[in-house]
Amino acid sequence: MTLAELLEIEAERVLATYARLPVEFVRGEGSRLWDADGNEYLDLLCGISVTSLGHCHPRVVAAVREQVGTLMHASNLFYTAPSMELSRRLSELSLGGRVFLCNSGTEANEAAIKLARRARREGEIVVVLGAFHGRTLGALSATPQESKQAPFGPLVPGFRAVAPVAEAVAAAVHEGTAAVMLEPIQGEGGVRVLDDEVLLAARSACDQYGAALIFDEIQTGMGRTGTMWAYEQTPVVPDAITSAKALGGGLPIGALVTGERLADAFAPGDHGSTFAGGPVVARAALEALDVTADDDLLAGVGERGALLAAGLERLPHVLEVRGRGLMLACELDVDAPALVRDALLRQRLVLNATGPSTMRLLPALTIEPAQIEDALGRLAALLGSA
Ligand code: PLP
Repeated sequence: MTLAELLEIEAERVLATYARLPVEFVRGEGSRLWDADGNEYLDLLCGISVTSLGHCHPRVVAAVREQVGTLMHASNLFYTAPSMELSRRLSELSLGGRVFLCNSGTEANEAAIKLARRARREGEIVVVLGAFHGRTLGALSATPQESKQAPFGPLVPGFRAVAPVAEAVAAAVHEGTAAVMLEPIQGEGGVRVLDDEVLLAARSACDQYGAALIFDEIQTGMGRTGTMWAYEQTPVVPDAITSAKALGGGLPIGALVTGERLADAFAPGDHGSTFAGGPVVARAALEALDVTADDDLLAGVGERGALLAAGLERLPHVLEVRGRGLMLACELDVDAPALVRDALLRQRLVLNATGPSTMRLLPALTIEPAQIEDALGRLAALLGSA
């Protein structure tokens, strides 16, 4: 099928939810992608932080291949070892409590919201401006962005959005608060690192009023910032984290992981999902977790991130570089979506824009220093002529 045919099908048959760029990818390996004409691209986006171990990581592929021919699905009415092992491993590698597996980031946040409400009936959920927690109605209600929320009202009641500043977060929490939910680094919001003061204020307000502190680590987790979870580089420990994106090594899976405080809030029947924690995705996630939880790999994220950030800072039209590890964004004085399009079509470089002037980079944690230099060269060529 040609690209023109794909565009035609989209125009006639596909609900118009995505603004796609005109490239059809057919194969990936490590930080490289190939289109249908055999052209090679350098991937600095990883399917929005999903293929963080590179495309088709051999250990993930081998585990999936084996599992897919053995047992694909049994349902959560029964036991399957991969789902139990994955829950144990996720808990051991983070907050030490209990795990709910699901199929996406949005679902993980839905589970977190329900868990917090289960622990405090009818409790309010405090979120911060600039947040992105997903697009189903609960997660959307936790995503205080006018353009995303306005067409879909009425939203779920009981969400309060405040500025991401310490005083505002502290003042919003009271006896009726079920949770404060935030991303330690806002991803879709343009890679904005929340100040430690905000996190400390949220932690102490939650402690004072018995509310839960939930970190959405869907984009920041799985080694993206140089530690397994971003909270490890902050002065606080949350009561729960949500994970998805890179968790499945490229396959769709999400998880809610609790610490002690929320571990016993759900009872049988409170929540569930038919596909959740199925053997194939759970095996993929077990491999992804094992590969990622490696001190050398995580240390390399910091080094590669520093190399990339330093190179970005030297480029023309770059006003600011933000982020941590390999979760980076550049503020530009040129049109970011146009640059991203040009990067793809003229330089075969895969990037993303989170706003009119913000370019986001989420390369594989395994990207080679030479590939970083190569990417910087391609960006310099584009920005030099911008
Ligand atoms: N939370 C954060 C921080 C995200 O970045 C995203 C996706 O971009 C989501 C939630 C939603 O995840 P999903 O698209 O898997 O539903």
